[in-house]
Amino acid sequence: MTPESSLDPANPFAHASDLPYGLPPFGAIREEHYLPAFRAGAAAQRAEVAAIVADDRPVSVATVLDPLEASGALLNRVASVFFNLVGSSMTDGLREIESEANPLLAAHRDAIVMDAGLFAKVTELYAQRAELPEGESRRLLERHYDDMVRAGAALPAEGQERLREINQELSRLAATFREDLRADTNELAVHLDEEARLEGLPADAVASARAAAHERGLRGYLLTLILPTGQPALATLKDRTVRQGLYVASISRGRRDNAYDTRPTLTRIVALRAEKAGLLGFANHAAYVVADQTAKTVDSVMQLLTGLVGPAVENARQEQAELTERLHADGFEGELQPWDWAYYAERVAQERFARDSAGLRPYFELNSVLREGIFAAANGLYGLNFVPRKDLQGYEEGVDVYEAFDESGAGVGLVLTDWYARDAKRGGAWMSSFVDQSRLLGHAPVIVINLNLNRPPAGSPTLLTLDELSTAFHEFGHVLHGLLSDVRYPRLSGTSVPRDFVEFPSQVNEMWAWQPELLRRFAVHHETGEPLPEAALDSVISAQSYGQGFLTVEMLAASLLDQAWHQRGPADPEITPEQVNTFERQVLASYGLDLDAVPPRYGSTYYEHIFGGGYSAGYYSYLWSEVLDADTVEWFLGAGGLTRESGEKFRRELLSRGGSVDVMAALERVLGRPPRLEPLLERRGLLPA
Ligand SMILES: [Zn+2]
Repeated sequence: MTPESSLDPANPFAHASDLPYGLPPFGAIREEHYLPAFRAGAAAQRAEVAAIVADDRPVSVATVLDPLEASGALLNRVASVFFNLVGSSMTDGLREIESEANPLLAAHRDAIVMDAGLFAKVTELYAQRAELPEGESRRLLERHYDDMVRAGAALPAEGQERLREINQELSRLAATFREDLRADTNELAVHLDEEARLEGLPADAVASARAAAHERGLRGYLLTLILPTGQPALATLKDRTVRQGLYVASISRGRRDNAYDTRPTLTRIVALRAEKAGLLGFANHAAYVVADQTAKTVDSVMQLLTGLVGPAVENARQEQAELTERLHADGFEGELQPWDWAYYAERVAQERFARDSAGLRPYFELNSVLREGIFAAANGLYGLNFVPRKDLQGYEEGVDVYEAFDESGAGVGLVLTDWYARDAKRGGAWMSSFVDQSRLLGHAPVIVINLNLNRPPAGSPTLLTLDELSTAFHEFGHVLHGLLSDVRYPRLSGTSVPRDFVEFPSQVNEMWAWQPELLRRFAVHHETGEPLPEAALDSVISAQSYGQGFLTVEMLAASLLDQAWHQRGPADPEITPEQVNTFERQVLASYGLDLDAVPPRYGSTYYEHIFGGGYSAGYYSYLWSEVLDADTVEWFLGAGGLTRESGEKFRRELLSRGGSVDVMAALERVLGRPPRLEPLLERRGLLPA
């Protein structure tokens, strides 16, 4: 009896889903199904790997790589559902399961990547790699070999033992960080009794605040917090004390002396990562992470980041001077505070670009943006069509399922859309998958897109801010990367590219939010059906270049903070929880990024990307891939904008290839030359005047 068959056949994870595209049967899945499936799935994969090791035929793609890629099917089925729901629909039950499943999975992954017999097989095949034809299999072999070495497969036994302990503890700590942050974020939502204090906030945001209060059994209004430091309401709330309260709540997350203090967790994470890097022969965690990226070295990362600081700060100071004048004109004295910035920046933008963000929102209704904007762009570029599948069920009420078809009418995959914020959902916006595309396994992709929009009261439309509009296009860029994947191996599918490249396709996709021909189509008043007036359209487009000083500084500050935490070596003295705030201030000051009015995009204590997610030492990726993005945007525009021909080239060379090719070489094939830095400098206003 194989371990997989030891799972109760009534458990919905016991067999492949028979729904279209292997969509998980959400309605049949109950919480008691997870742990048995995790255990059986891990045992089954260990047995599959043991069979590869025991195979006495000569090593080859067919005897090592293919069966390795095909292993773990049961585990993948349960893990993909479980971790998607942990992010989008957390419950107390899932939380308990997660605390058991995480260490189990960390130990399982270690058992596979440190399996001596498997490593011997992979190493033997790796030694013959020059004989393999160039292409996906050779690339996969290099990937597996590197993964195993980086995971400690070549270490002596005692090193491996310590690594296993570290991985176990790190996996527990990341879950603790996420959970404490989620709880503190909920607790710090700002509660207000009187509507008068919300003056300036658009009517539907007021309605959402009322609904949020009601949902928690409170009277009045509740301003809930989103993940980054900046909160959308800061741009419109007129009452300066309310703005201050909201801002202080945002930056207080995780650094209060309460049960949700994340400082002990994050300092422990930093120390363990440094120790692990040392064990694996790297100077620090950042060096370990970056070695595997397109950036390759910490030096090249620091060169990009520090090179942008001077011009960005200069830019931000000019913006600050202008905003401070507005503050004083309003009768306030003294310095512009961080809770004033967005408010006055919004007013400058309104005057200079005749842009009224709140006034624009009725033109950006979610369904119109989706059908006539996001889907239309994917159709114009890649020939995709999206059809609602009302017969298929998502994991929550309000999660819709779409089927994507190509031009020939062939089904490509499924896309689930989960737009709204819930207390049980983590902050931010992201794409993820339930099934990764793979020709080896015969799998077409099942992708999910998550945003955190405020749910409007029943019967009202969902109206987007410009930020949310841009985020929706961004996340859909990730969706396309997963959806258009056309590779053999799941390990190389879709978004399985170096992390400092993974934001590239999504950042490029943002460009279509600001394309006049598309804007005219989707920016239509939700009540009158009138298109966005041409003057407003121009201002929306030109206003995109305003405020880049602030945005670049907050990104640089967050990126350098991430690097500073992760460039600490194993021999450096540990930072104590009490020293977190001081450490943060010192790092920012050392780069001249200590502008009081421009806080980092994330403070350490609520920096989920690096302490709760997979972006440690990798937050630089956003700026790194923006260099490539800005250049690619110029390429698209130079080639006639939204055309099927450009889209096809981009799809063929890049989106469809996932990690099966050298992504930088693929990009050069699209551009016809190496990428340049100038388009980014120009976009962010960093070129000398
Ligand atoms: Zn992204």
